[in-house]
Amino acid sequence: MEHINHTTQLIGIKDKHITLTKVMQHKTHIEVIATLDYAPPKCHHCKGRQMKYDFQKPSKIPFIEIGGFPSLIRLKKRRFQCKSCRKVTVSETSLVKKNCQVSELVRQKMTLLLLNRESLTHIASKLAISPYTVYRQLQQCQFQEDYASLPEIISWDEFSYQKGKLAFIAQDFNTKKIITILDNRRQTTIRNHFFKYAKEARNMVKVVTVDMSGAYIPLIKKLFPNAKIVLDRFHIVQHLSRALNQTRIQLMKQYDTKELEYRALKYFSKFILKDSRKLSLKPFCAKTFRETITPRECLRRIFKLVPELKGYYDLYQLLLFHLQEKNTEHFFGLIQDELSHLNKMFKTVLNTFIRYKTYIANAIELPYSNAKLEATNKLIKDIKRNAFGYRNFDNFKKRIYLALNITKEKTTFVSSRA
Ligand SMILES: [Zn+2]
Repeated sequence: MEHINHTTQLIGIKDKHITLTKVMQHKTHIEVIATLDYAPPKCHHCKGRQMKYDFQKPSKIPFIEIGGFPSLIRLKKRRFQCKSCRKVTVSETSLVKKNCQVSELVRQKMTLLLLNRESLTHIASKLAISPYTVYRQLQQCQFQEDYASLPEIISWDEFSYQKGKLAFIAQDFNTKKIITILDNRRQTTIRNHFFKYAKEARNMVKVVTVDMSGAYIPLIKKLFPNAKIVLDRFHIVQHLSRALNQTRIQLMKQYDTKELEYRALKYFSKFILKDSRKLSLKPFCAKTFRETITPRECLRRIFKLVPELKGYYDLYQLLLFHLQEKNTEHFFGLIQDELSHLNKMFKTVLNTFIRYKTYIANAIELPYSNAKLEATNKLIKDIKRNAFGYRNFDNFKKRIYLALNITKEKTTFVSSRA
């Protein structure tokens, strides 16, 4: 605890060389008139003695809110003149850094606000400064990239940042810290970036999790020779459910829209795709069947109407089961047994699974996935929504770093003026 003896201290001015001369309440803001004055220090240039000279024309400094009002300080700064070299210097204060128009307190607040997912214009209006000042502050943030080490477990993904443009993102699986964001996901871009790391660092990577596309696999092998590749579990399930859904639609289209089969397949797709162990036991009013039945009974009726769906449904459910029970052998055994008599949709998906067997087995057996990175991508979407005018990718990237990396570890960013 600290006693506050002066008004200057109360409103947040720590510099004892500043004295208030007048405070005016305007309709929209508070205006503080103050002077900065102290005993002349030695000359910067020749170490000679200085004397007090005149005051500089007051400079206008946006300040933090006082009593709920935006405020500005008109600060008159003392000038000194050297007796030997005659050079004139201006007094200095911790309130504003040299060559800076915004007070330190406002700058600190601005940095804090930049950590949130708020738009630049919103931050500017909150602090009663121009959006350009906020923009410049953002530009001054620099991130030190450390090419000496890499985390053991890395997640890779992409996200869209402009219409039709995909960016690349890599995250530390354990700390959720963003390792890098690249403005495109071309293999050469990614390769060149990771080749900046020492070979020893790349050899330390033990696991890389990645989506189902498989496009990155050869590159990952090259960059991280000791890493196990894990295809994302969520994407594996997504591929399966897509195959079942397309099968449902294909069967549905064999019927006329007015037929019961058509309507049953159309309206109960949710039950068909749902993990059967998670189906509700509550009866509901199924209008298509004109009865109150449970979801399970509803499915039984659909299979009675369209027996062809039953085989695919059972296969799908069984594969989901093996996936959850982490039984790789049963998962791939089942695929081998069934593959020859399946439709085109299932064949395509399951052949892909066979091709990537090692990486899917890793997904089944290891506790890693892209789930955390998907969550990060959702946050990035938030930032993007609030960020009109991030035409400059670099600023967008900085904003993401500030919002996602700094909140956890405030030391990794430095303002170049600090
Ligand atoms: Zn001098």
